[in-house]
Amino acid sequence: MFSRCCRTKLANQTVYLFSRYQSTLVIAEHDNQKLIPITLNTITAANKIGGDITCLVAGTQCSKVAEEVSKIPGVSKVLLADNEAFKGFLPESLTPLLFATQKQFNFSHILAGATAMGKSLLPRLAAKLDVSPISDIIGIKDKDTFIRTIYAGNAIQTLKSKDSLKIISVRGTAFEAAALEGGNAASENAPDADVKNEVSEYVSQELSKSDRPELTAAKTVISGGRGMKNGENFKMLYDLADKMGAAVGASRAAVDAGFVPNDMQVGQTGKIVAPDLYVAVGISGAIQHLAGMKDSKVIVAINKDPEAPIFQVADYGLVQDLFKAVPEMTDIVGKK
Ligand SMILES: Cc1cc2nc3c(=O)[nH]c(=O)nc-3n(C[C@H](O)[C@H](O)[C@H](O)COP(=O)(O)OP(=O)(O)OC[C@H]3O[C@@H](n4cnc5c(N)ncnc54)[C@H](O)[C@@H]3O)c2cc1C
Repeated sequence: MFSRCCRTKLANQTVYLFSRYQSTLVIAEHDNQKLIPITLNTITAANKIGGDITCLVAGTQCSKVAEEVSKIPGVSKVLLADNEAFKGFLPESLTPLLFATQKQFNFSHILAGATAMGKSLLPRLAAKLDVSPISDIIGIKDKDTFIRTIYAGNAIQTLKSKDSLKIISVRGTAFEAAALEGGNAASENAPDADVKNEVSEYVSQELSKSDRPELTAAKTVISGGRGMKNGENFKMLYDLADKMGAAVGASRAAVDAGFVPNDMQVGQTGKIVAPDLYVAVGISGAIQHLAGMKDSKVIVAINKDPEAPIFQVADYGLVQDLFKAVPEMTDIVGKK
């Protein structure tokens, strides 16, 4: 399956050439119940590379997820690794599984989303397999050549990898989501691996609960910055967001000041979003913030400083005090 043999004539001798067949492993991200959407974007990226796509579903009581993955068009095989050891998806437990999987199947590419999980797992695996990880790609030129941003999104790099195995994290917003129905991939158990982890232990997790859409998947995002002054004032943004069906994000300054939790941070060291509409409220537009939202289709900025750099990337700008503008907007949206 992993090498393609072709026959050619050379000086009257028949020579068999073996070229490595493209085969990509996509590491599925999920919560043991359902897939996290970035896996679908990662599968689209894998499709662009070409060749067979295998999806690894590792978790605890996660067979439902394996079923979901098997229906995604383009996936030819699902490897299921169901083990108590994968509680919390600790990279220290998952890396030996991936190592064993790679040793058995010899994939040419291993892909995961550029999420907290992908970012902690892939560099470990790359170190174990002695290859250079390629992070946060936004485009694929061919099987060896990838596009990614550098300098906080200010420059675009085209990178050609000479490694025989490419280990890549994928920026979800740069690739369309694959369809959820239409495929019929076979499932089998992932290879056995010694996943005993004495370095770290999963204790518990506290997830912020919200009925609003997930930040990276939302079609509209309203973000607040230091200009919001405190956490209580974010209620204004939640009210507006609820009327617009939007997610709420924040700048790092707002997170660092303790206004909101850090899973709301948008930017170079936060989440990358590319919604249809991004509304920046009381955010100056530092390059590290722009790195996380400048691919949004329409950008609206509300800032009382007409010189704020955010206006350079905004499609629509409102120079006004946000404490006046936001309640007015909420009123208008509410009447529609
Ligand atoms: C390595 C590194 C990584 C970073 N990563 C990130 C990141 O991921 N995300 C991120 O956001 N930042 C990041 N930063 C921080 C970044 O450089 C900025 O400091 C930060 O984005 C500023 O946030 P802000 O725009 O909310 O605050 P400020 O720059 O202080 O801007 C506040 C804005 O609010 C406006 N304002 C104030 N009051 C009002 C009002 N009443 N009405 C209307 N407007 C008002 C002001 O005019 C001002 O423009 C990073 C920095 C570094 C060095």
